[in-house]
Amino acid sequence: MSRLDEVQKRRQLEAERIEKSMAKMAEEKAESVGEGELFVAFVDIDNCIGCDQCMIVCDDKAIELYDLPLRTTGLESEVNKKARILREQCTGCRLCALACPTNAITMIDR
Ligand code: SF4
Ligand code: SF4
Repeated sequence: MSRLDEVQKRRQLEAERIEKSMAKMAEEKAESVGEGELFVAFVDIDNCIGCDQCMIVCDDKAIELYDLPLRTTGLESEVNKKARILREQCTGCRLCALACPTNAITMIDR
């Protein structure tokens, strides 16, 4: 086996290891997030980066983005985008909590 083959094989094995690890993490997260009509989503705005992934997965139009003034002048953007849950429309499906890349959404008791 050539050196290039060895490197490619190692990369492939590492990619498989990372994929398995991420799948396990997603599974563990899914098990720990509450679901159903007794729950409602809640956004921790300190962790929200306004990426809108939660809005994309929410079929119930229960999330909106709003502008929050920056707390620091060190950044160029004039506002932060933050997500807000519209409690009445939220069905507790938890898709947003699973989709949020920063774990800013938790499911709390309704
Ligand atoms: S997915 Fe998470 S980080 Fe992105 S806008 Fe929604 S709550 Fe904020
Ligand atoms: S829990 Fe479901 S319905 Fe509620 S905001 Fe998240 S994605 Fe929308």
